Amino acid sequence: MRGLMQERPLLVAGLLEYAEQYHGDTAIVSRLPDRSIDRSDWRRIGQRSRRLANALGRLGLGRGDRVATLAWNSFRHLELYFGVAGSGGVLNTVNPRLFPEQIQYIIEHAENGYVFFDLTFAALVEKLVPLLPGVKAWVALCEPGELPAMPGVALLCYETLLAGESDAYAWPALDERDACALCYTSGTTGHPKGVLYSHRSQVLHAMAACTLDALSISSRDSILLIVPLFHANAWGVPFAAAMAGAKLVLPGPLLDGESVFNLMRDEGCNFSMGVPTVWLGFFDYIERNRASLDLSAIRLERVAVGGSAAPRAVIAKFQEMLGTFLIHAWGMTETSPLGAVGNPLPKHRGISLDARYDLQTRQGRPIYGAELRILGPDGTVQPHDGVAVGDLQIRGNWVVSAYFKGDGPATDAEGWFTTGDVAKIDPDGYVQLTDRSKDVIKSGGEWISSIDVENIAVGHPDVQEAAVIGVYHPKWQERPLLLIQRKAGREPSKADILGFLEGRIAKWWMPDDVVFVESLPHTATGKLLKTALRETFRDHLAGAS
Ligand code: AMP
Repeated sequence: MRGLMQERPLLVAGLLEYAEQYHGDTAIVSRLPDRSIDRSDWRRIGQRSRRLANALGRLGLGRGDRVATLAWNSFRHLELYFGVAGSGGVLNTVNPRLFPEQIQYIIEHAENGYVFFDLTFAALVEKLVPLLPGVKAWVALCEPGELPAMPGVALLCYETLLAGESDAYAWPALDERDACALCYTSGTTGHPKGVLYSHRSQVLHAMAACTLDALSISSRDSILLIVPLFHANAWGVPFAAAMAGAKLVLPGPLLDGESVFNLMRDEGCNFSMGVPTVWLGFFDYIERNRASLDLSAIRLERVAVGGSAAPRAVIAKFQEMLGTFLIHAWGMTETSPLGAVGNPLPKHRGISLDARYDLQTRQGRPIYGAELRILGPDGTVQPHDGVAVGDLQIRGNWVVSAYFKGDGPATDAEGWFTTGDVAKIDPDGYVQLTDRSKDVIKSGGEWISSIDVENIAVGHPDVQEAAVIGVYHPKWQERPLLLIQRKAGREPSKADILGFLEGRIAKWWMPDDVVFVESLPHTATGKLLKTALRETFRDHLAGAS
């Protein structure tokens, strides 16, 4: 017997309609590249998104047509999220930090007819224009008076487009399974792959993100959205914020410690999210200016960190300097991205801070809607006993089923997607990532977790960032090599670093050498670029015995 309840389509425009109607006055604050502040609110975002939808119709954008952005976090980029998807288009947020050839590949592969760009990327756009004849027009996200001179480029001005339109527009009743957004993965090898989200997947993901044991986003939050709108839909937070009617603070390109600190303070942000690298810079700034900063003016209650492992030292600093609880989360572009989120259970009430930090270094527990499991080398499902290590798989309503224009499914017959991460899962369901499968260090048949060693090394007071890679060793096949970027003005020695690790990691995990580097390379989404490091240091231990 069928249930007799209504089925309303789950559409992203519905999120915006709700925010506009019931949280219309809630602020959307953007810091623009020139440091000036724009103040908007959900009502204005709603009105302007409908103007944009009208403008897109006039430009001839049809259902399912892709539109690209090369843009920072700002109110205009947020309007594109809703205006494009809500009117039946697909928003392809392209990561501007990728190499121009990768950007060219993505725009061609997605067949984007229009590219909306921030003025910061005007020079990049000029390079791309001759390579991308399929793009009908390039739309600068600016006022008419700011429009750059770009001879020979089919250039449009965003504000001129909106000014010519009415804000009366009825969001179409789309099929909830229609595509709404397209993000490409930032793989370190091969071409980027497109993950095509549906309205249904994003609304369900937003609902999950708002639950208390996930990100608990509500109308009482002022959210500093540091994770870029071009990285996995900013972890789904724009949709969740609209669903909850939360205030959003969009920092633009200024992500240095001082800028983040000031914006967080001035806008009373109680929640933020971003990759660990941003927080390393944030604490570096605080530590260097501690005497002159009023830390009590920071209201940050919680911060979600993911994309790379949150080091224990960062978890402790948030707690001890700002009284902030760090929610460690795991996910991927392919998983919208939330898969596991690190909140405590009732049994953890009253545990020591030390024990709590240990818990927080794990990547969290699965949230409802995301099933996780690990597989051993023989393909058998491994127990969740906190000991067995295996390849992490996920399935659920916001997990990829196939890549855009891919050749076949991205999952096995039962819907399991293999993440490429290696993890263990404890009896409470907390996932602990040990490595990307390609980064695992295999020493004499045993595995060493690079993430564990990096996390501990970053706890040394003179270390800014650390990377551990496996390099060829004549006796052990591979041994760990530790690369350290020192904090400015600090000079720890190799012996200091190794002494710090001693007793904190198993003896045979001890790196065979420590190399100090000026800086560590990162991918376009802020992860350590280990392929490049392995290449550079391939023969570093070749002469060892
Ligand atoms: P992306 O698709 O760019 O978001 O990258 C997804 C990958 O980032 C995952 O497969 C993990 O390897 C890594 N990742 C995400 N969250 C975490 C985390 N909390 N700790 C360690 N690695 C993470």
